[in-house]
Amino acid sequence: MQGFFCGCDLTEPFTPRAVLFYIMSKLTLFWHRRDFRLEDNAGLYHALKNEENVQPLFVFDCHILDSLEDLDDARVTFIYNQTKALKDAYRKQGADLWVFYGSPLEVFRKLCSENQVKAVYTNRDYEPYAKKRDAELESFLNEQGSTFKTFKDHVIFEKEEITKDDGQPYTIYSPYANKWKAKLSDFQLKKYPVITYFSSLRKAPLSPLITLAEMGFKPSQTNFPKKDIPQIILENYHQTRDIPSLPGTSRLSIHLRFGTISIRKLVAVARNVNQKYLSELIWRDFYQSIIYHFPDSINKAFKPVYDNVEWLNDEVAFDCWCKGKTGYPFVDAGMRELNTTGFMHNRARMITASFLTKHLLIDWRWGEAYFASKLLDFELASNVGGWQWAAGSGCDAAPYFRVFNPLLQAEKFDPQRLYIKKWIPEIDTKNYPKPIIDHKFARNRALEAYKKALQ
Ligand code: FAD
Repeated sequence: MQGFFCGCDLTEPFTPRAVLFYIMSKLTLFWHRRDFRLEDNAGLYHALKNEENVQPLFVFDCHILDSLEDLDDARVTFIYNQTKALKDAYRKQGADLWVFYGSPLEVFRKLCSENQVKAVYTNRDYEPYAKKRDAELESFLNEQGSTFKTFKDHVIFEKEEITKDDGQPYTIYSPYANKWKAKLSDFQLKKYPVITYFSSLRKAPLSPLITLAEMGFKPSQTNFPKKDIPQIILENYHQTRDIPSLPGTSRLSIHLRFGTISIRKLVAVARNVNQKYLSELIWRDFYQSIIYHFPDSINKAFKPVYDNVEWLNDEVAFDCWCKGKTGYPFVDAGMRELNTTGFMHNRARMITASFLTKHLLIDWRWGEAYFASKLLDFELASNVGGWQWAAGSGCDAAPYFRVFNPLLQAEKFDPQRLYIKKWIPEIDTKNYPKPIIDHKFARNRALEAYKKALQ
């Protein structure tokens, strides 16, 4: 496999004595995935507490990287910067982060052939691809006499921790959220004191870090959102969250996605500061629960009857939508914000997704894939959840007859057109396109198409 083990030649930087130690000693590996932090990291804590000679590592998964189209994909740069930051943090403890590029299973095969690997520790990932990958790794490790230990870190509640009284998973948000809140206690929010056990880290010389170029990428110039918790924004969140021209939301989504911030830490703040903000963090847990219990929902309508909708899938209209040239200012502003920054305000995500599925009758999977290719905070569970919600096919979706009027939405949430003017400088000139479809016509057409599908 091309690029395999690039950037981390396991012997080169070692002195002969270090090499001998390295060959003889048993290792425990800690695998960082969506948890780029040392602080309050559940899996890392357990690895360090239970084991000795713990070697942390990260794998740039070639299966994921190969599917990306942009050479300067900002997510790759973000992750790359995080591996550098982690390397520095481990360095301060006399340890090192190993960084590989390849297929994770192949990386672990090679590591196990060259070391006595006692165990691999990691934090759980609930996406179908990750579950399959981890199951394969676990059976390989077991064959080797090693163990695979996973921990909850990405969410507050997982798997069967929040279910209906009969043990079935919730598919409606409100009762899920009620039980989530009732069950929440200081116990779930307790910080893992990783620092106490730093002495269990394997002392290691610094290995070189693979370059972006070696993986076929270029650095992106994107400015990433800060990871500080914005206290004032959270205090006013319930009043400002729907106004896209304001800095009224936390912008922490990329940090929650990649675990540069701990969800426990954020929930501990949210529950004291703003209940509305807390409820958004619960939506995140809810969609993680849905993807865990209903993995097929990543590409099938959660409610199967909605797969009967006869999508028009007009490629010209789709192209207008992608480029922000539909002639509907709120929709176009949202799409241009996304194309320019990799972020889109939640209100605009709702409007653009509704417009694509209802006004243009384009399959929600097309929109989901486009968002997935652009969003810095792309999170499969939340993205599929948001798209199926907008298309009406989701577990707790907007009813199909709720067709957002993008013009009224703009009047309500961007009355002074500040957001629109920011992203569409030519808005009041003849260069701005006329609407590609009439709202009333599109609404009626959508209602007909959905009605027919649901008959
Ligand atoms: P805030 O409003 O400050 O919310 C705080 C955090 O709560 C967010 O960072 C996020 O982790 C979580 N959150 C907020 N709203 C939701 C929600 N509706 N569902 C799940 N979690 C939520 N969010 C993603 O993180 N990744 C995605 O790929 C994604 N795709 C979406 C697609 C569509 C069509 C829609 C309608 C929503 C999508 N969302 C997604 C949810 C939401 O739009 C973003 O989480 C939010 O805009 C991120 O900005 P913020 O961090 O300032 O959020």
